[in-house]
Amino acid sequence: MYYIGIDIGGTNTKIGLVSKDYQLITLCKFPTPNDIINALFDEIKGLFNENYIVGIGIGVAGLVGEDGTVIESPNIPTLNKIPLASLITEKFAVKTRVDNDATAATIAEANFGEGKGTNRFILLTLGTGIGGGFYIDGKILNIPMEAGHMSIDYQGKLCSCGNNGCLEMYASGRAIRDTLIEKIEEGAISQAKSLYEGNFYKIKSEDVYRLALEGDNLSRQVIKEAGKALGVGMANIINIFSPEKIILTGGLSNAKNIYLEAAINEAKKRALKGLTENIKIIRSQLIDSGGVLGAVFLLRNQ
Ligand SMILES: [Zn+2]
Repeated sequence: MYYIGIDIGGTNTKIGLVSKDYQLITLCKFPTPNDIINALFDEIKGLFNENYIVGIGIGVAGLVGEDGTVIESPNIPTLNKIPLASLITEKFAVKTRVDNDATAATIAEANFGEGKGTNRFILLTLGTGIGGGFYIDGKILNIPMEAGHMSIDYQGKLCSCGNNGCLEMYASGRAIRDTLIEKIEEGAISQAKSLYEGNFYKIKSEDVYRLALEGDNLSRQVIKEAGKALGVGMANIINIFSPEKIILTGGLSNAKNIYLEAAINEAKKRALKGLTENIKIIRSQLIDSGGVLGAVFLLRNQ
């Protein structure tokens, strides 16, 4: 008897087969396609053919309604207004639940990860965009915590949400990529220019981080600035919520040196000293599996 956990992000989708004691049996990861619904149907069907599946839990980057309809997903617009839970229940006749991806990752941290035994923590998902979850007094706060759309510069860059200076515009994977491309277009020198046979528009945030570690100055500068921006956002979070821990997850949290280092320094420099003395800002140990395990946990504990 197994569950399927699915984590749909702006860049990658992960599908895991999960046992009833939350062991991750298999995990498959692929770039989120435009036609995500049919890709999900195919993958789920494959798992159904070989296993006895009793339920499907899904986390999606975006706002999700209580009935499992995706209300708005800025980074995966093809899912906007799609009644994802009912589509999957109709097709596979099992209980299906859809939540926000950061909510799923937060509940996974609380039960299986760095949040275990912590009374109050904030989780930030650092990927194409930035999401958040808030865990307090033994439960997850059931509100959309759109940390990526916290403004850190009220006259700053215009975000797709309509606000100016959103954290995502400076500190996310997409921001890193876009900033590097912009600087190259302006004539800055970088090894990134010769990647993808000179088509540097194909560059990904992981490439920028790798080049930064290899000593490419422009990449290093872009990653460091993005880290500082994240630190500004975290300082606001610390001042408002005073968490015991901030747990960082998502693909970008692999960029430990330069990016996270700059973020943690900046946050501690800016937040009120009394609030930063005991705070722990740490990387998740469930970067790939948290969203999948959490989605199954939410399905089983609804
Ligand atoms: Zn925004």
